[in-house]
Amino acid sequence: MPADPATPSLEPSSAAKSESDGGARRLRVTEIFHSIQGESTHAGRPSYFVRLTGCNLRCRWCDSEYTFSGGEWMTFDAIFERMASFPRCDLVEVTGGEPLLQPAVNAFMAECLERGFEVMLETGGSLDLSPVPKDVRKIVDLKPPGSGEVDRNRWENLPLLQPWDEIKAVLADRRDYEWARDACQREGLFGRVAVSFSPVFGELHPRQLAEWVLADALPARVQLQLHKFIWEPDARGV
Ligand code: SF4
Repeated sequence: MPADPATPSLEPSSAAKSESDGGARRLRVTEIFHSIQGESTHAGRPSYFVRLTGCNLRCRWCDSEYTFSGGEWMTFDAIFERMASFPRCDLVEVTGGEPLLQPAVNAFMAECLERGFEVMLETGGSLDLSPVPKDVRKIVDLKPPGSGEVDRNRWENLPLLQPWDEIKAVLADRRDYEWARDACQREGLFGRVAVSFSPVFGELHPRQLAEWVLADALPARVQLQLHKFIWEPDARGV
């Protein structure tokens, strides 16, 4: 049974006590921090962020290139210990890089759920979602042409989305907008999951994107990268 959601547990797990630490219970981590959720329908919520190392994509406008290499191997318990050093909150966001490159991430997210946390996963949308624990809230990117990675969208993932999952498309220009609009309509995403369209910071004015969405009467949310407005646009660990 999950723990009481009001009091998520950061104590060492019974699994950790019963296992000698195997590679299955560790992850390569770029950073762990406590901040405000910035890019989903949960924007504004305090969250722990676990940013994993490595990405199989190279989006043109990527702001997380520092995740591509380096990082530090951490056991699950070391990750929970680090989270416990911050003020308490009930949400864990696993992000990257591409978190799904590390298969152990699914066991980590399952353990977060067992401990009573809500868990969100941000993924670039190119890898199989089927191993992800069902109760994880998946924020799945659609990569438009302007990203340079449009051919990597894994369309087979879309039928796997649950009502609590979300689609996010980061858009650089009108071509990207039309592509994302048409893809969401063609794949029946509107009305099935929340769909957010975000402008590439510094390239597409949010007002322009809002006007396109309004003119097309599109049921998409225009979403800003909240943390870039609260802190410096290139600040890390926020
Ligand atoms: S998927 Fe994310 S981390 Fe990877 S290159 Fe694209 S924007 Fe950067």
